[in-house]
Amino acid sequence: MASVVSAPAGVAVGPTKLLINNRWVTSKSGKTFPTLNPATGEEICQVAEADAADVDEAVKAARHAFEKGPWRTMSASERGKLMNKLADLIEKNADELAKIEALDNGKPYSVAKAADLPLTVACYRYYAGWADKIHGKTIPVNGPYFSYTRHEPIGVVAQIIPWNFPLLMQAWKLGPALAAGNTLILKPAEQTPLTALRVGELALEAGFPEGVVNILPGYGPTAGAALSHHWDVDKVAFTGSTEVGKLIMEAAAKTNLKRVTLELGGKSPNIVFADANMDEAIEGSHFALFFNQGQCCCAGSRLFVEEKCYDEFVEKSAARARKRTVGDPFDAKTEQGPQVDQDQFDKVMAYIDSGKKQGAKLMAGGSRVGDHGYFIQPTVFADVKDDMKIAQEEIFGPVMSIIKFRGIDEVVDRANKTMYGLAAAVWTRDIGKAHHIAHNVRAGTVWVNCYDVFDAAAPFGGFKQSGIGRELGEYGLQNYTEIKTVTVKL
Ligand code: ADP
Repeated sequence: MASVVSAPAGVAVGPTKLLINNRWVTSKSGKTFPTLNPATGEEICQVAEADAADVDEAVKAARHAFEKGPWRTMSASERGKLMNKLADLIEKNADELAKIEALDNGKPYSVAKAADLPLTVACYRYYAGWADKIHGKTIPVNGPYFSYTRHEPIGVVAQIIPWNFPLLMQAWKLGPALAAGNTLILKPAEQTPLTALRVGELALEAGFPEGVVNILPGYGPTAGAALSHHWDVDKVAFTGSTEVGKLIMEAAAKTNLKRVTLELGGKSPNIVFADANMDEAIEGSHFALFFNQGQCCCAGSRLFVEEKCYDEFVEKSAARARKRTVGDPFDAKTEQGPQVDQDQFDKVMAYIDSGKKQGAKLMAGGSRVGDHGYFIQPTVFADVKDDMKIAQEEIFGPVMSIIKFRGIDEVVDRANKTMYGLAAAVWTRDIGKAHHIAHNVRAGTVWVNCYDVFDAAAPFGGFKQSGIGRELGEYGLQNYTEIKTVTVKL
């Protein structure tokens, strides 16, 4: 049985062991690791720590489930029913899951409840609907032959996710993989393993067959690397840093050429023209950067503002940032909780320091909040230059960099001068400008007069070093199937 530990905030945190072949087990090494509450820096509980030996065990279970288990032969509509059941159970336990997410990640509970949970449920439901709608085609080949394609599951899939949206990233991974009939091993981030394990418990309750859903908390260089190097894993789907994404590809290339999809970092341009609805652009750009403590791969972290409205925009954005409420994730008034851990806190503070040293103008924030936990003031820099570190590198924290521009062609060129290409946005009332930006900025998603609008049906992913492949929607599903051509002599 899974152990249940009572956490500081009075939240029952759920299972803390590894889920392999529908059983909760300790790691073979007997090792555990602590997961911390970012609001205090204190330990919530110990969690079983998977490494290569546990990965082997989980891969064996997933392989057996894929080849011999009922999952393979089950009607596609039955798979859809199981997924809908899981979605229903997540919805039924939404409050508890939002609390665990807030405790383990530091995001405000109210945000987890209003955003992460509904999007998670919607993602499972969306892909449940796909389960029995994955068709091939008939192909009019030359000669007396009947030729058709089948979209078959890839097989055993390893899924490695980050800590910024633990529940949602799990749904983005499990949804398409299960709909297409794969079996999987999910490795949650070491900072935030708790909600993934609770969802594992709900998957057991929903009735998924043995070995279909396996969950292995553990560290990247051990458990994560063992998954990406494993010879019997057919695909690895990864969300995280570009640096680790490259290691994953290298591991796939050095072993069995497993399929690889990557959703990586970003430094997304958010472009504001003077003809925009200024209040909406200011609030939208604030949200684009500060949402989720600034810990979004698609954060609008290069904020280009047209010269004509620059001074007004800077002043009002700084005032808005100063008003942002930072504090206890369980306080209903809190807009911003702590960063996820000490490493992230230190990294963000170092970027703030570099912004100050390189001559950007500090308009708001710039310091930590309080003396324990990983809270940082919403920080705004103006007069940021393209070559400053804060304009070049992914900060992943509540630090806004405002950059002045003059013309549309100039801003497109500058927006594209980055190794990343995850997202972009434009704020304008001029439809011509909106489409020009949408078509010329090289990014996987472009938002016009809005930001961070996500839907399970709309694909998401990166150009350039922001990734390979797409998640969500039909394109996301395609990344979980192999195409087989069958040709029959008539
Ligand atoms: P971040 O810097 O945002 O923490 P990472 O890319 O380091 O992002 O981590 C994202 C996920 O990748 C986590 O689950 C982490 O454990 C995992 N990870 C880190 N290093 C490796 C690695 N060498 N191989 C496989 N997975 C890894």
